[in-house]
Amino acid sequence: MGRFGVADIFGKAICVMCSKEIAEESLKRNKLLRHMNTHKDVASLTDEGRKQRFEQLTKCQAFLRQSLTKKQQLVLFSYKTAYIVAREKRPYVKGEVVIKPVLESFVEIFEGEVFQKTVRDAITGVALSNNMIPRRIASMGKDLREQIHKDLRSSPYTALAIDESTDITSEAQLLVYGKFACGCRIVEEFLCCLTLHSTTTGHDIFRAVDAFFTENQFDWGRVVECCIDGAP
Ligand SMILES: [Zn+2]
Repeated sequence: MGRFGVADIFGKAICVMCSKEIAEESLKRNKLLRHMNTHKDVASLTDEGRKQRFEQLTKCQAFLRQSLTKKQQLVLFSYKTAYIVAREKRPYVKGEVVIKPVLESFVEIFEGEVFQKTVRDAITGVALSNNMIPRRIASMGKDLREQIHKDLRSSPYTALAIDESTDITSEAQLLVYGKFACGCRIVEEFLCCLTLHSTTTGHDIFRAVDAFFTENQFDWGRVVECCIDGAP
């Protein structure tokens, strides 16, 4: 992977040029090469030049990680825990009532280990309350949404798939999926869930999606296909 500027960072394959995570299915020689070639400044270098550039960038990233302050490390730990709670769809209190006690008993059992103090300090310092976890999840969600919107805005073409479902209060929820280009990949992402308060005609659906497009400055001119289940 190193030959293509991809480094192992916290167990993830990260491109050292754009800091994007490379999906497992893209860790093949031709796909890595294609991704590397999207970084024009690096692609134009000689093999030796590229090697030096990757070494510099990898060192920079390692330095940035090491230079996190204690407080930043605790915030990162809190975010990672919130991510696990969200991914596993667990109640927000798990951080405070399960994860912290588990860490405490871990330290107790492995008393005498060198990292004991580090773990103890982390337990006292880290914010994992049932108020903090949803805040972290919301801020990660916002960041993810912004990344997807940014990619969608810069894609030359977009295809939409729209369908509605009804929630427990009998209100129609419109789900919008987009397929678009992200760098050299075609990605499919969930874009939004819009509530239709009255009727669910084709006109209502268009109005809701159009409002979403206007609000986020998406361009209808780039939508080449739109698939719905035949609303009246
Ligand atoms: Zn990259």
